[in-house]
Amino acid sequence: NIFQKIINKEIPANIIYEDKLALVFDDISPQAPVHMLVIPKKNISKLSDCEKKDSEILSHLLLVVKIITDKLGISDYRVVINNGSEAGQTVFHLHLHILAGRNFGWPPG
Ligand code: AMP
Repeated sequence: NIFQKIINKEIPANIIYEDKLALVFDDISPQAPVHMLVIPKKNISKLSDCEKKDSEILSHLLLVVKIITDKLGISDYRVVINNGSEAGQTVFHLHLHILAGRNFGWPPG
């Protein structure tokens, strides 16, 4: 999938952060002034495929959200995971959207 190619640096992305387990880069089609994606380097298609053994990765992804937003001085933001096509998932490699820089409605569309 396309995110695996970004992990492998086969296609370009504006990479914000990288460590052993995770990668953060700008969304190519931003839906807010700040729109980044946090992904695991492990190939997990979607949240509902995760197992107990993925708990370290899952908690790490949330910690990365905190590290990145702190670093960028972003205090108010929304984190979204679309799980499955009916929920809006288009890329089947687990990812957390970080959206910020504008007001967000609730409930989401
Ligand atoms: P989702 O609809 O939740 O699966 O989100 C997939 C996201 O990936 C969308 O917001 C796309 O704009 C974004 N996206 C797709 N291809 C790329 C790419 N090559 N680089 C960065 N973001 C991408």
